[in-house]
Amino acid sequence: MTELGFNTLAIHAGTAPDPATGARQVPIYQTTAYVFRDADHAAKLFNLQEVGYIYSRLTNPTVSALASRVAALEGGVGAVCCSSGHAAQIMALFPLMSPGTNVVASTRLYGGTIQQFNNTIRKFGWSAKLVDFDDPKAIEAAIDENTRALFCETICNPGGALSDLDMIARVADMRGLPLIVDNTTASPYLCRPIEHGATLVVHSATKYLTGNGTVTGGIVVDSGKFDWSASGKFPSLAAPEPAYHGLNFHAALGGMAFTFHSIAVGLRDLGMTMNPQGAHYTLMGIETLPLRMQRHVENAQIVAEWLAQDARVTQVTWPGLKSSPYYHLSQKITPKGPGALFTFGVKGGYEACVKLVDSLKLFSHVANLGDTRSLIIHSASTTHRQLSDEQRAAAGAASDVVRVSIGIEDARDIIADLDQALAKATV
Ligand SMILES: *Cc1c(COP(=O)(O)O)cnc(C)c1O
Repeated sequence: MTELGFNTLAIHAGTAPDPATGARQVPIYQTTAYVFRDADHAAKLFNLQEVGYIYSRLTNPTVSALASRVAALEGGVGAVCCSSGHAAQIMALFPLMSPGTNVVASTRLYGGTIQQFNNTIRKFGWSAKLVDFDDPKAIEAAIDENTRALFCETICNPGGALSDLDMIARVADMRGLPLIVDNTTASPYLCRPIEHGATLVVHSATKYLTGNGTVTGGIVVDSGKFDWSASGKFPSLAAPEPAYHGLNFHAALGGMAFTFHSIAVGLRDLGMTMNPQGAHYTLMGIETLPLRMQRHVENAQIVAEWLAQDARVTQVTWPGLKSSPYYHLSQKITPKGPGALFTFGVKGGYEACVKLVDSLKLFSHVANLGDTRSLIIHSASTTHRQLSDEQRAAAGAASDVVRVSIGIEDARDIIADLDQALAKATV
């Protein structure tokens, strides 16, 4: 059979009729543990000599179905689901890092990720160096002998800037490092980072994958392409792992080393596990991912163009506008459209932004994105509040802009709401 198309995979990948009952939808396997056939079966499972279910902190059939589906959509060999997007980021770094090592990351990241990287990961003895990922020389200069990964977002939250994944992957390649790409804001429908050279892809499933603001979840997808043994820098994956009776994961499992380590050690010991109910909602959401993303992008284009010609608006950062410095890159990285997340500036600055947000009726004022509903937030007073002015500006969240996540309602209703709120905000 020829390789299945994306729309087909979104509905079928990872899921066959339930072998026990024939149920067509993936059942929610609401169980903690699984009965072993006998003591020998149990021993084989614990030795990774046979793949099966032991305990739902590690694996669960509903959660595994989701992992397989997202791996297929991203073109990876395996995936591990976790409790949130932030958990996915820790799970992606965990097998690569040890005390004293660093990750070189883009300054244009989700505000919560900047916090996690600047402060919280220091408790593990890891650190992050944030640099301008538009500039290959800046990335190269930041890499040192303790660097273990590069990290960026496909479409950068909140500003909608795009990362030149091919260029960044070349830098990573030259230095023998894995590239981790947070693909939350694009979704695999708009961009498949592995095709641009990414080693690992992380997602907040909370956003477009589930698509309607019902779930908190995260996923790490492995390309299976990185040679963990080549540099000697990744002992957890390519040397005897003391946390798993001395198993060398790369030698034993090849391209599946990262995925198996993430389950057998990462989920086992960190416990940032996705629950089967959440996995079920995300599986449901993904069935309509291609349709939703098409409409998100269509609406984003209509709304961005309308805003750009409005005299009350000072700037619009949607990369699909010809005026965007990322317009040409968007043709290469996101040919189906550069997402539905962007910022715009309002005449009158901070005060006008706050007034605008308070005057909208259809838009919801929430700290979320990727919902069917149109959402808005003033990043400077909320998600990026704890950053310095300088960090905010670098992240694309200056105090005189608002961030929108354009939903899949009728575009004219979205515009009408913005129109009446701009009128109130700019009197
Ligand atoms: C929301 C988000 C995260 C964090 O995901 P949670 O599911 O909220 O933990 C990470 N990266 C990006 C780009 C996000 O939008």
